[in-house]
Amino acid sequence: MSHTAELIAVGTELLLGNIANTNAQVLSQSLSALGINVFWHTVVGDNPQRLKEALDIARRRADILITTGGLGPTYDDLTKQTVCAAFGRPLVFHPDILEDIRAFYESALHVPMPENNTQQAELPEGCAVFDNPVGTAPGCAFEAEGIHVLMLPGPPHEMETMLRRHVEPYLRRLSHEVIVSRDIMTFGMGEPSVDELLHEKMAHMTNPTLATYAKPCEVRLRATAKAPTEDEARAMLAPVWEMVCETLGDVVYGVDVADLAECCRAQLLRRGLTLATAESCTGGLVAEKLTAIPGASAVYRGGVVSYWTSVKGDVLHVPQSLLDKYGPVSAECARAMAEGVRRITGADLGVSVTGTAGPDADERGVPVGIVYIGLAAPEGTFCRPLDLGRRRRDRIQGLAANHAFDVVRRYLQGLPVERI
Ligand code: ATP
Repeated sequence: MSHTAELIAVGTELLLGNIANTNAQVLSQSLSALGINVFWHTVVGDNPQRLKEALDIARRRADILITTGGLGPTYDDLTKQTVCAAFGRPLVFHPDILEDIRAFYESALHVPMPENNTQQAELPEGCAVFDNPVGTAPGCAFEAEGIHVLMLPGPPHEMETMLRRHVEPYLRRLSHEVIVSRDIMTFGMGEPSVDELLHEKMAHMTNPTLATYAKPCEVRLRATAKAPTEDEARAMLAPVWEMVCETLGDVVYGVDVADLAECCRAQLLRRGLTLATAESCTGGLVAEKLTAIPGASAVYRGGVVSYWTSVKGDVLHVPQSLLDKYGPVSAECARAMAEGVRRITGADLGVSVTGTAGPDADERGVPVGIVYIGLAAPEGTFCRPLDLGRRRRDRIQGLAANHAFDVVRRYLQGLPVERI
C-alpha cells in the first residue's frame, strides 16, 4: 500500500518570509526516496486555531502527517497541545525525558535548565519518542485512526538529525517495499534535448521511473525502482542505466557521482595522474570545485588565476607576440596557458579557461560568452572553443568551469575533447 504524507511547518516567521521552509525541502527529499507520496506542503503560523484547521484538512487527504516547529518551551510553541487535542490524545509527563533535557542544558549549554522547559517532557500518550541529541525538544510519533502523526522540532539541524536517526527508520517500517534510486549524470546536452530523446520512454515508465532534474550547469536523471528487496530494485535499475547510456551516448559521465569535478578526481586517481589549472574568466572556480573535495591533493597540484594579461605572460609564459596577435581570449592563448601551467607545476595535465564572462565584451571586442578551454597533455595540446551566448556572468563562469572538467574527463576516457 502506498502512503501519502503531508508536511505541516509551524511558525509565523515562515509566513512572514523571515526564513525559508528548508525543513520541507529536506523532508520531501527523504520521503520521495522512501517512496512516500507528498502532495501537500502546508505552512501555518503559531496560531492554534489555524493549526487545528490545517490538521483537519491534512488528515482527510494524507495518512502520514509530519509537523515541524513549535515544540519549544515558549508560550507560542503550541504544536503538541494542538495536535493532541485534535487527535484526542492526552499529554503525559516523562520524568526521564526531563532529566535528559536538564542534562543537555548542563553539559552542552553550561546553564541550568529554565523551568518552562519542563513542558518539553510532556508527550502524547503511547507515542514513540524520538530523542534529540543536538537540542532540547524531543520529537514523537503516534498512530490514531490509521493516521501516523509525527512531530519534529523546527531548528533544521535538530530536525535533520532526528529525521536520519528516527523518522526514516520509522517510516521504512510502514512500507513493505524498498526504494532504490540512482542518479545518472550528464553534461553537454541541455534539458530540452535530453527530454526530447527520453520523453517517450519516461512517460511509459511506472516502476522503475525516470525523471530529469536540471542542475545549474548540467542535467541529472534519477531512476527509481520499488521492489521487495534491495537486490531486486537494483536489478530493475540496470536496464534503465543501459537505455539512458545508449540513448544519450557519451554525454553521460557517471552514475551516483556528485559532479564533474568528483568524476575527474576519481579518474585522475585511478590513472595515477595529476592536474593543474590556469584560469582567467572563471577566477579560480575550477580550482575551488576541485579543492572542495576531500583528498583532492592526491591529484591536484595547483593553479594560477591569471586574470590580467600581464600575468598570463609573466607567470604562465604565454608569449607576448601571441597575446598581441590573437588576444587573451583566443584558442592560441588557452593552449599556451594550459602548456604554461603544466610546465611550471610539473603536472601530467594542464587545463585552462579563458573567455568573456560579461556583462560587456572584452577590450578587443570579443563578445560575451566566448570561452576557450585548453588542455595540455603528454600527447599534445587541445582546445575546445565555446560560444555560451549572452548568459548571466555566473552562469557563463559555472558552465565554463564544467566544460574544463568535461575536457579532462573526456581526455581520460579516450573520447574526443575538442567538440562534444
Ligand atoms: P525551539 O526548541 O528552538 O523553540 P521549536 O521546535 O519550537 O524549537 P521553532 O521555535 O518553531 O521550533 O523554530 C526554531 C527555529 O528553527 C526558527 O527560529 C527557525 O530558525 C528554524 N525553523 C523552524 N521551522 C523551520 C522550517 N520549516 N524550515 C527552516 N527552519 C525552520
